[in-house]
Amino acid sequence: MTLKDVTVNYNGTTALDAVSFSLEQGEQIAVVGPNGAGKSTLFNVMVGKVKPDRGDVRIYGSGPKGHICIGYVPQRNAIDWRFPVTVRDIVMMGRTSKIGFFHWPRPQDREIVEQAMIDVHIGDLADRQIGELSGGQQQRVFLARALAQEAELLLLDEPFTGLDLPSQRLILEILGELRTRKITILVATHDLNQAADLFDRILLLNRRLIGDGPPAQVLTAPLLRSAYGSHLHVIPSQEGTLVVADTCCEPAMILEVEHA
Ligand code: ADP
Repeated sequence: MTLKDVTVNYNGTTALDAVSFSLEQGEQIAVVGPNGAGKSTLFNVMVGKVKPDRGDVRIYGSGPKGHICIGYVPQRNAIDWRFPVTVRDIVMMGRTSKIGFFHWPRPQDREIVEQAMIDVHIGDLADRQIGELSGGQQQRVFLARALAQEAELLLLDEPFTGLDLPSQRLILEILGELRTRKITILVATHDLNQAADLFDRILLLNRRLIGDGPPAQVLTAPLLRSAYGSHLHVIPSQEGTLVVADTCCEPAMILEVEHA
């Protein structure tokens, strides 16, 4: 998939400004940037929900609704968890495009759904209502839905937000397993430490694409300052340079860069 000069304006606010990059199959990439940087907009453009005002999205030569299958795991707060459906129902929704709207699932669809739930360790929760689950379990339901969809590209919007460490670890383990299946994964996160530790490639975004490359190249004080502006404090210390980002609605993040 290639994005070229993608620009999105919402009523005069520029959410994305001439963003260009390409993804290789099987890459796992973190998309980082402050609140309002355009991370969700970027994902919406990639799944074809938002049409760029300028620029275009190419998926093996076709548009966003072309033949690549994209799985989207939305932010948890974007979902109404009171909706009375079971875990299995949600995961089966991943098969809709394969089954067709007015057809019953075939045995092979049911098998794929059961396997997807097992793959993300929620097989025992299949008959539970989604509202009864913990945050980490809910996140895994949507991962299972993307697997059932046989997605080649997975977009995860802040999948770790609000989860405790064991739940975060479990999701990371699953992402590690997906690496072996050559599924391309983009993870929007505001956790710079996690991005630096776990991803080989970082897209640093604040409307413009400020950096694109390995963490050591992108998470540098000058580029971070450019993305986070006055919310970034650079503190030199004996061990190296500490970069602390504090944005109004997120906990402060601390990142150590440029070892002395
Ligand atoms: P992020 O996911 O990085 O927090 P978003 O993509 O949600 O960033 O938002 C980028 C900018 O676009 C913000 O200024 C936000 O207020 C604005 N925005 C996002 N969605 C809409 C929308 N549907 N209508 C108007 N403005 C929007």
